[in-house]
Amino acid sequence: MPKKRKNRGRHKGDKGKEPMVYCDNCGKLVPRSKAVRVTVPYSPVPGDLARELEKQGAIVPRYYVTKTYCINCAIYLGILKVRAEDERKRKVSLTKAPARREVITVPPASKPSQTQTPAPSTSQGTQGAQAKP
Ligand SMILES: [Zn+2]
Repeated sequence: MPKKRKNRGRHKGDKGKEPMVYCDNCGKLVPRSKAVRVTVPYSPVPGDLARELEKQGAIVPRYYVTKTYCINCAIYLGILKVRAEDERKRKVSLTKAPARREVITVPPASKPSQTQTPAPSTSQGTQGAQAKP
């Protein structure tokens, strides 16, 4: 019989029975190997406020919450995606999101003067280069 997926949509192998778990979103009862478990950082403080507080030296607590979803909810929430027939055979990791880096911002007082001074010189240089030939 042809298989739609290599692991039949589960990861229990030939184990037999296994416990059932509830979906955290809709409450559906699903086999544990078929459920999608995601660990996400959760902070009670909103992101912008937390960044400002950390700049001032405060320690903002960050908790990790593990959620269990059924397949329908995982697709609805964007954790999994419906894949093409060739791509279904490949295994995907749920934690492949790249870590976000803080962008270091230059103080606004020094930034405009630096950008203004090179701009005229480069424009003059290009005009001179264009005028010569
Ligand atoms: Zn669900």
